[in-house]
Amino acid sequence: MTVFDVVVVGAGVFGLSTAVQLARSNYKVLVIDKFQIPSPLSAAYDYNKIVRLEYNDEVYAALAVESMGYWYGDDCKFLPRGLLHNCYSHCGRLSVLQDKKTSRFAFDNGSLQVLQTKFNRCKDVELHGELTCGGRFPQFTNSQRYDEIRYNPDCGIGFARESLVAMKRYAETLGVSFHEHDGVLNVSGETVQCESGERFYGKKIIVACGANTVSLLPMQGKINATGLYVGHVQLTDNEYEKLKNIPVVFNSSLGYLFPPDKDTKILKICTTAMSAYDSVSEKSKPIYKSLQPELSPSIPIEAIVRIRTVLGKYLPDLVFDPLRKSKLRNIIDCKICWISDTSNSDFIVDKVPNTKNVYVCCGDSGHAYKFLPNIGKYVQQKIEGTLAPALAHKWRYRDSNWQGTEIEWRFEPKKKALQEIEWYLESYGRPKL
Ligand SMILES: Cc1cc2nc3c(=O)[nH]c(=O)nc-3n(C[C@H](O)[C@H](O)[C@H](O)COP(=O)(O)OP(=O)(O)OC[C@H]3O[C@@H](n4cnc5c(N)ncnc54)[C@H](O)[C@@H]3O)c2cc1C
Repeated sequence: MTVFDVVVVGAGVFGLSTAVQLARSNYKVLVIDKFQIPSPLSAAYDYNKIVRLEYNDEVYAALAVESMGYWYGDDCKFLPRGLLHNCYSHCGRLSVLQDKKTSRFAFDNGSLQVLQTKFNRCKDVELHGELTCGGRFPQFTNSQRYDEIRYNPDCGIGFARESLVAMKRYAETLGVSFHEHDGVLNVSGETVQCESGERFYGKKIIVACGANTVSLLPMQGKINATGLYVGHVQLTDNEYEKLKNIPVVFNSSLGYLFPPDKDTKILKICTTAMSAYDSVSEKSKPIYKSLQPELSPSIPIEAIVRIRTVLGKYLPDLVFDPLRKSKLRNIIDCKICWISDTSNSDFIVDKVPNTKNVYVCCGDSGHAYKFLPNIGKYVQQKIEGTLAPALAHKWRYRDSNWQGTEIEWRFEPKKKALQEIEWYLESYGRPKL
């Protein structure tokens, strides 16, 4: 019987980052995932994610500045220099500024102030009255004259699936063992039991199953599974050439879009300020399309409308089919992507009470991807008892206050139960729009 120093359950952002850091410190590590990495259940199973620095909380701002050094390829304290550089593009971000009275506006301004004064970053931010930023980005139309735009060149995107694979490959070179295609059913004492019947043993066990953590640990009330909506459009070769170097365009009350993927020429659009939950599990569990396709077909019609609104506002040439201009372009590969929310968006990285050796890392709240290079270092510190008290307190296993806390950077008036949604039947029938 092999006993590992640490068994990590879940090979998403927290799990892979942690496995790498532990292995760098010579721990004997096993990583288990229900799917092959990159897992379609991971919130990071995606073409790309934003790697931004903007936080008005100095703790997260410091972590983001630290992680950017690895994405950019400069730093080498936690990872080999350049390991993630090929999975990253420092493309910049155009943010549509919100009404000055909104908490989002205060968040954006507060973040810039923290970054400029405390970290000497984001000094080249520019304000513009339209999206081309005075002709710098001619790929956009000049029609959005009423929006105020902030261009921050100090921002990028990570190629999400590719970066998970890069971390797995690196972990393998460090001697980490992987057991994929086998979900964990329960964790008890030092034993992890899988669906296949196989059991594994760890002196310490770390559960990092994202939105699905609730299936293994008593997290009810501490995290909610929130489903976010994603759709894509297929570009032609010409469209790809025109748009390949655009920055991210981000509107916190509508949605955001990314530079297109270089291999597939697919451009991703996400909605904001709307999300889903499962009312049967009282918001606690995700319903994964890949496991229960009949229960979560596609995304809501209103999310499709929103995606087309985002395109219409920022890239109107992509609204209609490139060949038949009277036909709307298909929104393809629509999906609900599940995150594990805490009420104040702080992560949970702690020992599970009443256990000797089981730890949990979850509560990503939709902003953990950027920390793939460095979050594992802090998880390692937690299990070694050396995590700074301020971080240990922030990320403690705690009750959430869902009524009393507002997340300034996420405005969410439209949470809908999956059971009430009218679906855009993209994958299972004729599209309704
Ligand atoms: C639409 C969308 C956009 C986002 N955009 C950004 C962004 O721009 N920037 C950013 O920083 N973050 C972003 N995020 C958030 C980011 O993707 C998540 O914070 C991050 O992926 C969470 O990591 P995790 O390790 O907690 O969980 P996940 O990445 O979800 O990984 C969980 C893993 O656990 C495995 N698992 C689940 N159950 C079991 C089981 N029973 N047994 C074994 N394995 C199991 C899964 O297969 C998966 O691999 C976004 C998320 C979404 C959904």
